[in-house]
Amino acid sequence: MLPESLKRARAILENVTPLKTDCGLTCNGLCCRPMEGEMTGMLLFPGEDKYYEGREGYRMTKTDHGTLLICSGRCERADRPLSCRLMPLIPLIRADGVKVATDIRAKTVCPLARQGKDALDPAFVAAVRQVGRILAEDDEQQAFLVTLTRQQDELKALRNQFRRGIHV
Ligand code: SF4
Ligand code: SF4
Repeated sequence: MLPESLKRARAILENVTPLKTDCGLTCNGLCCRPMEGEMTGMLLFPGEDKYYEGREGYRMTKTDHGTLLICSGRCERADRPLSCRLMPLIPLIRADGVKVATDIRAKTVCPLARQGKDALDPAFVAAVRQVGRILAEDDEQQAFLVTLTRQQDELKALRNQFRRGIHV
């Protein structure tokens, strides 16, 4: 059984997607394709693993960052984990509230992530914001979002450092 906050969050992103059309057609579903030689997976939100326990076609692995869901590259729409529904955006917890940002982790994979939020359907951006607000009302999910926010900041700092490095 999913935590109530996650159930609501997943429902909000059940039918709203980054573009009004199927964005997978533009990139041939890149975010569902594992990279060659790499074990890839999507990070599950706290309690989301319950949904996939014993579900055919999935396995899970624990990492320092949380539980990763490993899939076959195909899934039923209703089975998509929240991270896949949010792609390529992420709700962050800032001092002045929930903010929606492009997920830095998505930039290596998703062509839309490289274009930024303005390229996306505003209804999708609004839905991600709503999801962030719902999760922020649940202590466990909020703590997870705070961790994700810190990771995004660290990745951004690393990226900037790298960019400065190659321009000197
Ligand atoms: S990689 Fe980006 S554009 Fe392609 S299917 Fe995933 S979210 Fe859509
Ligand atoms: S769970 Fe589904 S949407 Fe997410 S990466 Fe796997 S196939 Fe794609």
